[in-house]
Amino acid sequence: MLVEQGFQQVPFQEGNPYTQDPALPSLLRRLIPPRDFPGASYAANQRLFNEEIEPELERFGAEVITTIRAQSRGNRISPPKLVQYDNWGRRIDELQTSEGWRSLKATAQREGIPGIFYERKYREHSRLFGFAKAFIMVGDSHEVFCPLSMTDGAARVVELLGTEGMKKDVLPRLISRNSSSAFVAGQWMTERPGGSDVSQTETKAQSLGDSDSLGSKYSLDGFKWFSSATDGDIALALARIGPADSGSRGLSLFLIPLREALNNRFGSSTSSTNGVRVHRLKNKIGTHALPTAELSLEQTTAYLVGPLNEGVNNIVPVLNITRIWSAISSVGGLRKCLAIATAYANVRRIDGGKRLLRDVPLHVAQLASINLVYRALTHLVFGAVTLLGRVECGVASVEEQNRLRMFTPIVKGFAAEKAVAAMEEAMAALGGQGYMEETDIGRLIRDGIWEGTTTVLSLDLLRSTTNPARLKEFVSWSYSIILMCPPGLLKAVQAAIQSLQGRLDTLLAAFLHPVPPLIARPSLMFIGYIASAIYLLEHAIWSHSRGEEGYEIDAEVFRRWVNDGSFVAAEQDLDRIRSEVKFADASNSAIVFGKRDHAKL
Ligand SMILES: Cc1cc2nc3c(=O)[nH]c(=O)nc-3n(C[C@H](O)[C@H](O)[C@H](O)COP(=O)(O)OP(=O)(O)OC[C@H]3O[C@@H](n4cnc5c(N)ncnc54)[C@H](O)[C@@H]3O)c2cc1C
Repeated sequence: MLVEQGFQQVPFQEGNPYTQDPALPSLLRRLIPPRDFPGASYAANQRLFNEEIEPELERFGAEVITTIRAQSRGNRISPPKLVQYDNWGRRIDELQTSEGWRSLKATAQREGIPGIFYERKYREHSRLFGFAKAFIMVGDSHEVFCPLSMTDGAARVVELLGTEGMKKDVLPRLISRNSSSAFVAGQWMTERPGGSDVSQTETKAQSLGDSDSLGSKYSLDGFKWFSSATDGDIALALARIGPADSGSRGLSLFLIPLREALNNRFGSSTSSTNGVRVHRLKNKIGTHALPTAELSLEQTTAYLVGPLNEGVNNIVPVLNITRIWSAISSVGGLRKCLAIATAYANVRRIDGGKRLLRDVPLHVAQLASINLVYRALTHLVFGAVTLLGRVECGVASVEEQNRLRMFTPIVKGFAAEKAVAAMEEAMAALGGQGYMEETDIGRLIRDGIWEGTTTVLSLDLLRSTTNPARLKEFVSWSYSIILMCPPGLLKAVQAAIQSLQGRLDTLLAAFLHPVPPLIARPSLMFIGYIASAIYLLEHAIWSHSRGEEGYEIDAEVFRRWVNDGSFVAAEQDLDRIRSEVKFADASNSAIVFGKRDHAKL
C-alpha cells in the first residue's frame, strides 16, 4: 500500500494560545482590574484593558502559532557550534548560533521582553502583561527566554545598584526593543566547586586602580562552569577580592563587557573577547539551541556593581527574577502540551472510527486531570508575578514582600516538578504520535527544568521562614481569602475549605521550632499545593461574585484540586517525615549505602 492510500489522520489544529487558553484570559481580567490604571477615568481604564492589553495578547497569540513558530521550523533551529581556532591556528572562539535562535531572540526583544517590565506603562501590572506574552510564546521559544530572563535580572540589578554610567549606557540597551542594538546579559555564578553553594568561588578580582564612566575597574581571573548566555553582550559575575577562606562573604559582583564592539565602546580590554575564552560547549539533555558553555577568564576587565563583598546579596534580584521566569517556562511549556493533547482529542478517532477521543469519558478524564494541574500552576505562578510587579513598583505591603520571598523558591520548584509530570501525561494522550519529536512535547519535557534543584530551593524556603511570623502571615493570608467566600459559593466548596483549613493546621504544626531540615522538600511541595488552592479559591470567589461565564467550573476546579490524591499524599508525606525524623537520617543512609551505621537504627 502506498503511504497516500488507506487511512489518513487529519492533523490537529492548535487554536490561539491566548483566546483558547482555559485559564489565562479570565485570570488576567481579574488580576489587571480596569479601574486600577493611574490617572484615568473608569471608562478610559476599561478601554485600556479591553482595547489595548487583550487585543495585543490576541494578536501576539496568533503570531506565536504562525510567524513565530515558523522561525524554528525545519533546520532553522539547531545546536550552536564553537569554532575555537581558525585555519592559521589562532584561537578565535567563534560561537555560531542558528538563524532560528537569533530570530526568536530578536522577536522576543521587539515584542518587549524584557522592555515591558521596565517601561512600566501599566505600572505594577506591567509584570503581568509582559509575563503573559512570554507565557504564550515560551513553548515555541526554544529557550531564548533563558538568556532574556538573565537580561531581565541584570536590568533590575543595574536599576537598583548600577553606577550612573551603567544606568545611562547599559540599562537602556538591556531593556531595548531594538533587537539590533539591544544587549543580552548572562549571569556567571556557578563554578566547579559548586553552583548551589558559591562560597568556594575561585574567580579572583584585582583592582586596576582605575575607573571610567561605568565605574571602578577590576581584572578577573577564573573559570566559570556554566554560562548560558554565551552569545551575550555583558555578564554579571561573582568574584573574590579577599582570601579564599572568606567564603561567600568575600564575594563581590562585577559587570563584564563582552565582544569587541563593547570593549571598544567601554574602552576595556583590547582582546577580542575581553580575556574570556570559551573552553567547551555543554552537551545537554535539553535546551539544545541554547549555547551553554564553560568559560575561562584571564585578565578580564570588569566593573564593580554595588558594595564590595556583598556580591551574593547584590545578585539576588537576578536569582529571584530568573526563578519566576523558570516557573513561567515550565507552566508555559505545559500550556502548549495541553493545547496539543486537547486539539488531538478533536481529530483522533478510536473504537473502529466510531468515536472521537473527545467523546470518550476515560480519555477526557485524563485531559481534565492535566487541565487541573495546569490551572493550579498558572494561578500560582501569576500570583507570584503579581507580587513581583507590586514589589518592584513600591506598592507592596510588608506582608506581600515577605510572601514573594517565600513563594519565589516554591513556584520554581513546584511548577517544574508538577508541570513536567503533567507534560508526560499529555504526551501519552497522543499515543505513539506524542513520542515523536515533531509534536514538540519531548523537547518541552527536556527543557522543562532549567537549572537548580528542588532540594536547594526547599532549603531556601526554610531560610525564608526562619522567623515563625512568616509562616503565620501565610496562614493569615490564606484565611483572609477563605473568609471572603460568599454563602452562595460556600455550599459547593465547604468540604474542600474544611480540608484546606485542616492542612493549614498540619503546616503550622510541621514548622514548630526547631524545624527539622528533612521536612524542607515535602513542605515546599505541600505549600505549593496550598498556595495554588488558595489562588484557585480567590478566583472562584471573584468569578462567582461577578457571575462570570464558567464560574461553576472555577469552583469545581478548586474543589477537585483540594481533593486531588496528590495533594492528600503531600500532606501524608509531610506528616510521615515529621514523625520519623529522629530515625530517618540513619535509615535513609542504610537504604542507600548499606547498613553501615546500624547502631543508630
Ligand atoms: C541548562 C543549564 C543552564 C545553566 N546556566 C547557568 C548559567 O547561565 N549561569 C550559572 O551561573 N549557572 C548555570 N547553570 C548551573 C546551575 O545553576 C547549577 O548547576 C546549579 O546551581 C547546581 O549547582 P551544581 O551543578 O554545582 O550542583 P551541586 O550544587 O553540586 O548539587 C549536586 C546535588 O547536591 C544537592 N545539594 C547541594 N547542596 C545541598 C545541600 N546543602 N543540602 C542538600 N542537598 C544539596 C543538590 O540538590 C543536587 O542534587 C546552568 C545549569 C543548567 C543545567
